[in-house]
Amino acid sequence: MAKAVAEMGNIDTFKGYPPEYGYDFLRSRIADHYRSIRVSVPEEDIFVSDGAKSDLGNIVDILGNNDVIIPDPVYPVYVDSNIMSGNKITLVPGNRDNHFLPLPDDSLKGSKGAVIYLCSPNNPTGAVYTREGLEAWVRFANETGSLIIFDSAYEAFITDPDLPHSIYEIEGAELCAIEISSFSKFAGFTGLRCGWTIVPEELESKGVHLKKLWSRRQATKFNGVSYPVQRAAEAALTDEGIKALRENIDYYRNNAKLLTELFDKKNIYYTGGKNSPYVWIKCPGDMSGWDFFDYLLKEAQIVGTPGEGFGDSGAGYFRITSFGTLENTIKACERLDSLL
Ligand code: PLP
Repeated sequence: MAKAVAEMGNIDTFKGYPPEYGYDFLRSRIADHYRSIRVSVPEEDIFVSDGAKSDLGNIVDILGNNDVIIPDPVYPVYVDSNIMSGNKITLVPGNRDNHFLPLPDDSLKGSKGAVIYLCSPNNPTGAVYTREGLEAWVRFANETGSLIIFDSAYEAFITDPDLPHSIYEIEGAELCAIEISSFSKFAGFTGLRCGWTIVPEELESKGVHLKKLWSRRQATKFNGVSYPVQRAAEAALTDEGIKALRENIDYYRNNAKLLTELFDKKNIYYTGGKNSPYVWIKCPGDMSGWDFFDYLLKEAQIVGTPGEGFGDSGAGYFRITSFGTLENTIKACERLDSLL
């Protein structure tokens, strides 16, 4: 990235507007990344962006008005961007019975041409769909002419070899799914801003060729990601970059392990923490997420996120992050150990 900044300061190597869809050097690295998880994605179907949140919010531009299906609780951007677009939203509740991994059920019978948002590994619950779970959603989408928007921002945290990293590991997904991902979580790009969206060439929704329309949307409303940031993203996906990032992820994974060991010891129900940076716990004593938030802040000077912030089905739950230092995580575990 530093080299790219220097290039921008030299008339001979200065770069103007980048290609709207991303430089080829980065698109080909992203395609390599998919190859490493045994998924074949053509470079031309990859659109580099300034982050997953922008794409998740902007995708409604090309979808028109639709019924929308969203598992609850979840990253709030899906609900809010569809409220802004005036779409009717059906929430599919996650709970202890379905391990916070809702599947298409009888309540969705009769759905036609819906847009379905899936997030796996999930924010906030840390739950990850199995292959069978994603197969059920892909089957449902193909049978009902629906479109899946699959958010894989936390994919790099998956360790279990049987769990899918990408929706395109599922047969038929290229006919019904867009995948949106991010450099933020696995490479610390929250401040640099870079992500990508895959719109397969084969994908049509209600007779519309979505890749063509997304290309047009991006060329019209977006002028690309800055050259130094794309070089930084490219570096993150080199062998050396991936090795360094793996070490970094292992550091957070260890934090998550300390937290889950504590909740195991205390017999507190949780999901996540194993293939995800988040641990999603049931608040003790039937407290609401907000009461637990106040309690932890006051009694132990620990902050986390009340489940209510992620949807009605998050009520009474609490999200704890492993994205902290080891020292602070140990301190938090000690305080939780004496408090709970
Ligand atoms: N998707 C999920 C599930 C997230 O939790 C987040 C950030 O918290 C994002 C996307 C945003 O990613 P980005 O930083 O690339 O906009």
